[in-house]
Amino acid sequence: MNVAPKLSEKEYKKNFTEHVTPFNRDAAVAEANRCLYCYDSPCMDACPTHIDISEFIRKIATGNMKGSAKTILSANWVPLTCAKACPVEVLCEGACVFNDKQEKPIEIGRLQRHTMDWFYQEKPSLFTPASPNGKSIGVIGSGPAGLACAAEGVMLGFDVTIYESNDTPGGLDTWGIAPYKMSQADSLTEVEYIKSLGVKIQTGVTIGKDKTIAQLEEAHDTIFIGVGLPQGKNISLPGSDLKGVENAVDYIAKVKAEKYSQVDVGRKVAIIGCGNTAIDAATESVRLGAEEVYIIYRRGKEEMTAYWFEYELAQKDNVRFFWLTNPVRIEGEGHVQALVCEKMELVAGSAGERKKPQAVSGSEFSLPVDMVIKSVGQDLGDHFLSGVEKLEIANSRIKVNPETFQTDNPKYFAGGDCINGGKEVVNAAYDGKKAAQGIHAFLFPTTAE
Ligand SMILES: Cc1cc2nc3c(=O)[nH]c(=O)nc-3n(C[C@H](O)[C@H](O)[C@H](O)COP(=O)(O)OP(=O)(O)OC[C@H]3O[C@@H](n4cnc5c(N)ncnc54)[C@H](O)[C@@H]3O)c2cc1C
Ligand code: SF4
Repeated sequence: MNVAPKLSEKEYKKNFTEHVTPFNRDAAVAEANRCLYCYDSPCMDACPTHIDISEFIRKIATGNMKGSAKTILSANWVPLTCAKACPVEVLCEGACVFNDKQEKPIEIGRLQRHTMDWFYQEKPSLFTPASPNGKSIGVIGSGPAGLACAAEGVMLGFDVTIYESNDTPGGLDTWGIAPYKMSQADSLTEVEYIKSLGVKIQTGVTIGKDKTIAQLEEAHDTIFIGVGLPQGKNISLPGSDLKGVENAVDYIAKVKAEKYSQVDVGRKVAIIGCGNTAIDAATESVRLGAEEVYIIYRRGKEEMTAYWFEYELAQKDNVRFFWLTNPVRIEGEGHVQALVCEKMELVAGSAGERKKPQAVSGSEFSLPVDMVIKSVGQDLGDHFLSGVEKLEIANSRIKVNPETFQTDNPKYFAGGDCINGGKEVVNAAYDGKKAAQGIHAFLFPTTAE
């Protein structure tokens, strides 16, 4: 592969440093005092975990940092990750009443981070788990869904063990979120805190390989499935076996290990797809030193699934977008040398259907590149879960009761990306917490609130 020259450690540090800086105490109090503490907080409704935002901000203003942390953690077990990674523009901050007045919304994410930085530094004691209730939960996966289920589970008196394939826990909080949003250390801080509540984590254990479903069922009263979407969807392109073809999530995980000089990037990189992960792959390639980065998308800009603010970030990084462009094949001798594409046009589908992209004949062109990163989504894949009786899986989503998160097999509950097809950390955090409450209500029907 035609590898881009390595950067100096100083340049890597600058490129991957977190782009949102922390508040100091005075700035946090000043921002907290700007909040109107709305009675009917629209921000709280817009937060999928429904943190009492006015309350935690009011506590920052009055210097009650412990109370502020308690308000946040009572609703969300991974609030540092959320503070740094939530797409606040379309969640809490997007709902702030200041937007209607054409004023800057309250910086809720940054204030949440201020409280959580204080909390993890000071480590005050906040919660006491209920006495053991004699039942256990086996949690598959240590991403935010699994962590939230486990933390809430121990609070309710369950004996909880998480089984995680990876040697380092945290799921995509540890291995996916762009380093310029948050570091691996932030994710691992939250994992350590959850362990300190009494959650056990067995890493390097893949359910379906190192332990069977039958063994898990034997060991636990209920099982929570929080496996995310472990398999990259494939787009079959001739030339995909050439050196320099990567899957976006795998590539991002290499970057996330934060040993930047050890990750090779091509001088010219093409990313296939235009979701948020594709944008991350593009901006991270630029920050690793790629000279030109292209996003290849078969539909138009208005149909991209990436958030507009992620798109703007990629534009600032000089990523070039090829709209209505379909990859046809990858060419090269041993390693990638070009991506051959064709132009598309949108043609009307049948009544009510959205327009479909169709190849423009004779429009093929060759884009010289050294690396191709496929980012066309994730799915559940061929899974050990197919061995679980009555579990209904359609479109890479496990079907659950939306209130209790119980699956059609009463012993199993599920949450996070594996039930919603891939949303955000904050959705997974909500699902996991609610599932633990669902498990409690199922096993202790008379004592459940
Ligand atoms: C590249 C990328 C960037 C993202 N950036 C953001 C962002 O900036 N902000 C945001 O809010 N969201 C972001 N997301 C989405 C977010 O990371 C996910 O929605 C969230 O992590 C889902 O949590 P989860 O617990 O369901 O799954 P995951 O975080 O995927 O965790 C699942 C865990 O289960 C483990 N596992 C799987 N199978 C098994 C098995 N058989 N046995 C044992 N363990 C198993 C996996 O190893 C993994 O650790 C991003 C996603 C990606 C891919
Ligand atoms: S968890 Fe996310 S959406 Fe909810 S208040 Fe915090 S930053 Fe906003």
